[in-house]
Amino acid sequence: MLDKETQLAVEKGVMLPLMEEFYTIQGEGYHTGTAAYFIRIGGCDVGCHWCDVKESWNSELHPPTHSNIIVENAKKHAETVVVTGGEPLMWDMSNLTAKLKNEHLKVHIETSGAYAVTGQWDWFCLSPKKNKLPVDEAYNIANELKVIVFNKHDFIFAEEQAAKVNKEAILFLQPEWSKKEQMTPLIVDYVMKNPKWRVSLQTHKYLNIP
Ligand code: SF4
Repeated sequence: MLDKETQLAVEKGVMLPLMEEFYTIQGEGYHTGTAAYFIRIGGCDVGCHWCDVKESWNSELHPPTHSNIIVENAKKHAETVVVTGGEPLMWDMSNLTAKLKNEHLKVHIETSGAYAVTGQWDWFCLSPKKNKLPVDEAYNIANELKVIVFNKHDFIFAEEQAAKVNKEAILFLQPEWSKKEQMTPLIVDYVMKNPKWRVSLQTHKYLNIP
C-alpha cells in the first residue's frame, strides 16, 4: 500500500512504477539497430496471452520512482529514450516526457494505444492488441503501426488496424517470438504480396541483448 503522498505523485505522473531501465539497441520496428535507453514502466491490463513481459502487469511490484531520477539516469546514456511497458499510457506521461525533452532527448513510446494519450512524443509506435483496441488519438498520431502476428487471423486484424491508422504511419508485421518459425515465412510472403507492409523482427532476441 502506497502512502498518500506517493499515491498522489503517481496519479500526477511525477512518480512512476519503474520496472527496469537499460541502455541497449532498439530491436524492433522502424528504429531497429539504433542505440536507445529503455524505460520500462510497470502496469498493464491488456492481457495478451503471449505477452513476454508478464512480470510487468502488476504495477504494485514495481517501485514508484521519481521522474527526476529516471531522467538523470537516461541522460547519462543516450540521446534517444524509449518508454515502454507494460502499458505506459496507463499513467500520465506529461511530467516525465516534459523533463526528458527539457534535456533535449528524443522521446519514443511503444504502446498498445488502449489509454488516452498523455506526454509529448517524437516517435509513437502503436502496437494494437485485440483485447483492448486503441483510442482514436493513438491511430491519429502513430508514426508506426506494429502488428504482432501470432496466428493467421492476425493478418486480417492487421488490415483492420491499417485502415484506422493515419496514412503516414509506417506499417510493420512482426512474428510473435514463440511462433516465429511458423509465422515468419507467412509474413515474408504476405509483405511481398502487400508491399505497403514491412517485416519487423525482434532482432534484440537474436542478438541475445535486452
Ligand atoms: Fe504484454 Fe504489451 Fe500485451 Fe500488455 S499490451 S499484455 S505488456 S504485450
